[in-house]
Order: sequence, then structure tokens, then C-alpha cells
Amino acid sequence: MMHTALQYDELAVPGVRALQPYEPGKPLAELEREFGISNAVKLASNENPLGPSPLALAAARETVDNIARYPEGSGYLLTGRLAGIHAVTPDCITLGNGSNDVLDMIARVFLGPGSEAVFSQHAFAVYPIVVQAVGAKGRVAIAHDGSRGPVAGHDLGAMHALVGPATRVVFIANPNNPTGTWLTDNELHEFISSLPAHVMVVVDEAYFEYVVQEHYTDSIPWLDEFPNLIITRTFSKAYGLAGLRVGYAVSRPEVAELLNRVRQPFNVNSIAQAAAAAALDDEAHLQKSVQNNLEGLQQLAAGFERLGLEYIESVGNFIAVDTGQRAEPVYQHLLQTGVIVRPIAAYGLPNHLRVSVGLPEENVRLLAALKKTLA
Ligand SMILES: *Cc1c(COP(=O)(O)O)cnc(C)c1O
Repeated sequence: MMHTALQYDELAVPGVRALQPYEPGKPLAELEREFGISNAVKLASNENPLGPSPLALAAARETVDNIARYPEGSGYLLTGRLAGIHAVTPDCITLGNGSNDVLDMIARVFLGPGSEAVFSQHAFAVYPIVVQAVGAKGRVAIAHDGSRGPVAGHDLGAMHALVGPATRVVFIANPNNPTGTWLTDNELHEFISSLPAHVMVVVDEAYFEYVVQEHYTDSIPWLDEFPNLIITRTFSKAYGLAGLRVGYAVSRPEVAELLNRVRQPFNVNSIAQAAAAAALDDEAHLQKSVQNNLEGLQQLAAGFERLGLEYIESVGNFIAVDTGQRAEPVYQHLLQTGVIVRPIAAYGLPNHLRVSVGLPEENVRLLAALKKTLA
């Protein structure tokens, strides 16, 4: 009997048909398997090179004994801690399986066919994915060319120009990944003030803890002023818990209530909840991580300058460096030397590589490998 080949693509909903899946950084173990090496360095996914706080590890280990039980669905302890730290009530917090999970909930609640979301060129790759998956349309604002704001940074004027009657969500990464560019308190405040109240503004502060610049702001207190504001944060970056998957949104309770309608009942596992809560108790480890990052940013920037390479000024835990040529072959060559970085052609930056800040000796290794590769 003859079967016609099943056109699987046509079975998918329209938004999913044209979707390009997210491409993660290459895992260490995979590179070591492929090349038969054992001391590879991964500077590709903006992870904390110091790892998590020992307090978080201890809490995780202790919780392992209880994994026969479902986690607490409300994340009572962690939510309470976060509410205290941010001076909001617990009903303002929505926990996510990483902040990507929260971004996905936001899309599912506020977007669908016929509505639009605005974000910037070179912005975080998850925005177009979550928007398209629910059948909404992403409107991409051209980024700064360097004449009025940081090269490749969000151009809030261009973003504002794309906001129209169908716009329901605006995504802003502050600072942005993969560019490391950031927005000042004044420009961000002015932008949010200028938006109609029915447009939800998502300020993604995944790298918040790393930023020491004077005019960089915590936008959570602005919730008093802006009912349409959602701030997202994560434990994946400065807290070093990327593998556990914990992030959260802070919003008005009415918005959190909507997000919780689509949140999977046990989206944050019990080990993750316990480790994240414990991580919040270790301010010293966080400060050590921030200090390592500030020194690493300088070390990498100075190294790029010695190599005659331009880079985008970054306040995150990574720098996008311009290789002066198509970056893909450079990336491949670095892999052969056991150094994993991130090509960002998919972000519209085909000549750049994004390098995460590592330990001082890891940064040295990357710079030496880059020098050899470009020679
Ligand atoms: C890494 C990152 C996130 C979140 O990652 P999770 O691990 O899902 O919390 C969110 N936004 C930006 C801009 C990021 O770079």
C-alpha cells in the first residue's frame, strides 16, 4: 500500500512553521567528545565562572533527599524572599523555569494572531521565538548605528515609532544580550512614560547584578508608577545557577495573576527553589562574582585592543568582539584549540563573536587562541 509522505510542517500552527529554533552555546562535554580533548574552556553562554554560592550548593544537596515529593507549587519560600528583597508583596512575583519561561508566559497571556510585539534588532533571541510561536507578529526596530547611542544598542525612538494599535508587548533587554549595551534611567523612564497603558513593557534585567554604572537603574520601584510594567530577572547569570533553571517576573499583582493562569503548576523544581533562596543569602559570593566580571571585562577589552580588534562596550558578563571578517571560521578554529565562544550571526552580527567573561586564566587562554587564530 502506498502512503503519501506526511507533511509534518503543515500540521504545525502557522507561527511554528517558520520558527527557527534557539541555538544554544556548544556544551563543553560535546566539544571534548568531538575533538578528544579534556581541558576545553567554555566562554559561550554567559555563565558565572565562579559557579554558585556554596550555600546554594548545600541547599540543593539537602533538597535531593526529598525529590519524591512535588515541589511547592507557589514557591512560597523563594517568592517570599524575593518579595522582601524587592520591597513588593509576594503576589507581585511569578516564578519561571528560567526567565525564558516567564517570557513565554508573557507572550501566551498578552499576544496572539493579530497582535504585535516590538523589540530591537540584535536583541535577545528568545523574544522573536516566543512571539512567533503564539502567532503574533514581531516588529524589529533598527538599532543605533553609533551616531546617537551606543553602537548596536536599542534605539528607543525607533522602537517607539513601531508601536501602533496592534502592539501589546514591548521587550527591552537592559543590558542587552549579545551586545552588552544599556539604557540610562532617564531614557528608559521617558520611553515607558510615552507608551499607551495597554502596551505591556517587559524590561529584561537578566544581567542586573553585574551593572555598576551610575545611571543604570533597578526598574522594580517604577511599578508604583507604571501598571503595564513587567521586570524579569534570573538566577542563571550572576547567581551561577543556569543549570537549575530559575527566573522570575516582578509586576503588579493583577499581571502576575494573569501570568499564573498559564504557568505550569510545578515549573520550578524543589532543588532549584531551595538553591535560589539560599543564593540570595550570600551577598559576599555575589560581590566576588561581580568583581571577577569587572576585572575580566577590562582584561578582555585590553586584549582585544592589543589585537587591534573593535568590540562593543559591554556592561554584562560578556563582550561582542568584531573579528574583522566572517566570524564563523574563527569560531570553528577556536573550537579546535578547545575554546568555545558564541558566533552571533543569527543576531545580525555576522563578524562578531560573543565572549563570556571567564576566570582570569580562561580569558588569557581565549586571547592567546584568538591571537593564534587571526595570525
Ligand atoms: C540569559 C538571558 C535570559 C534568561 O535566561 P534564563 O536562563 O532562562 O533565566 C533572559 N534574558 C536575557 C537577555 C538573557 O541573556
